[in-house]
Amino acid sequence: MLKRTTQKKRRRKALSRINKKKFVNVDAATRSRMQAIRGRDTQPELIVRRLIHRMGFRYSLYRQDLPGRPDIVLPGLHKVIFVHGCFWHGHLNCRRARLPTKNADAWSSKIVTNQARDRRVVTQLARLGWKSLIVWECAISNNKKLEAKLARFLS
Ligand SMILES: [Zn+2]
Repeated sequence: MLKRTTQKKRRRKALSRINKKKFVNVDAATRSRMQAIRGRDTQPELIVRRLIHRMGFRYSLYRQDLPGRPDIVLPGLHKVIFVHGCFWHGHLNCRRARLPTKNADAWSSKIVTNQARDRRVVTQLARLGWKSLIVWECAISNNKKLEAKLARFLS
């Protein structure tokens, strides 16, 4: 618990440093998108969890012992679900993943790093016998489609 709090503090500190230094001159929408740095219990995550629960599945959250600390873990099925924010995880061809024009290079390298890490995590999980599903934040608005996708993955 103590460790988690420290990490959270450190992350918040780092974020505020980033905001102060480089990204002062951005509009409010962009700023709020940036601030949605990988948190716990985000709104999209809650929606996905609720759907899965309603479908009758039980899950664990943020298993520290698995690569990438997956958002949702279904231990019995050996399956994990990541709920990715489009901006931070660089969703291809997604409107929400558009980079701010200011400091585009800095953003781009940050996002590319995140994408590489995400790919690595999925590979590591596969090696350990875990199947991964990525749910993008922008897909959450269509519950029917999302539910079908989850059902397919979990069946
Ligand atoms: Zn997206």
